[in-house]
Amino acid sequence: MKTVSIVIPIFNEDPIIDILVAALEERLLSKLTAYNPEVIFVDDGSSDNSFELLSRAVQDDPRFKLVRFSRNFGHQLAITAGMDLASGDAIIVMDADLQDPPEVILEFLEKWEEGYHVVYGVRRRRAGESTFKLVTAKWFYRILSALTNIDIPVDTGDFRLIDRQVRDAYGQIREHNPYVRGLISWLGFRQTGVPYDRAARAAGITKYPLLRMIKFALDAITSFSVIPLRLCTVTGFAMLIVCLAGIGYFLYAKLVAQSIVPGMTATVIILLFFAGVQLTAMGIIGEYIARIFFESKGRPRYIVQDKVNFEAETDTTR
Ligand code: UDP
Ligand code: MG
Repeated sequence: MKTVSIVIPIFNEDPIIDILVAALEERLLSKLTAYNPEVIFVDDGSSDNSFELLSRAVQDDPRFKLVRFSRNFGHQLAITAGMDLASGDAIIVMDADLQDPPEVILEFLEKWEEGYHVVYGVRRRRAGESTFKLVTAKWFYRILSALTNIDIPVDTGDFRLIDRQVRDAYGQIREHNPYVRGLISWLGFRQTGVPYDRAARAAGITKYPLLRMIKFALDAITSFSVIPLRLCTVTGFAMLIVCLAGIGYFLYAKLVAQSIVPGMTATVIILLFFAGVQLTAMGIIGEYIARIFFESKGRPRYIVQDKVNFEAETDTTR
């Protein structure tokens, strides 16, 4: 029988754990009779009772496994760890908050059986999200696809199935700020999407406040594009041409027309404008340099503190 692994990242989700486990039993595991299921919860350094609740839930049930990080390493590394540890022939990643309906996984498996290596969920509708999140997400995916030349499907999150072969290829990537959905697209293989309606959160609040969303967007862009750097070059060059015209004008006024140049306004505008352009360009360059800095350290990407219900001891720090 083929094994199917379901990876679920958890960060401070204690109001949801019992609902989640019940929903998995009822809406998914009871229907997965043709497979040998394995559910891997990755506790991403929760500071609430998530780990205790999960420990209780996985007790005496070898289908459920639990990994605990030594601290919060972030959603993308939590799903990376879950994929690393999965033993399935197919590996599915879903959120803990039941925004990704478990039934859709059955459709993913049908596509996988048809021979697709990657099956991702495409959000048709998203319930219970703020207008701000909907608008920023919509624009983010479109800007990202304009900036990159690999085909990252729009309106797709981390809810997906990957074949074991894709997981093994993903395991060779050792980026510290991985943009998982982009990297999976980058890997290639036969990929397809399944449309679904994204539900509202079953309980609790989002773990992606604005600042994390911005970091996530920057990781995505810097992972796959150097166009922002080119924009700095192009802007700089355009400014240089404007400068040359300005220099010509002021020299003409001074030397030929002998007119008194009223300088204050022009000076202030030029100074402020160029300071703004230069600092922005330096900031963009800085984003890339910061990422080189972190990649160059060779630190492990995440640290596993506890593992429950895993068979053999494997090296899990990478
Ligand atoms: N999550 C995580 N680590 C984090 C932040 C989030 O493991 O640092 C998990 C979270 O518990 C959830 C999933 O990632 O299972 C998606 O997070 P959330 O639902 O808050 O994001 P949203 O759906 O609001 O974008
Ligand atoms: Mg969510």
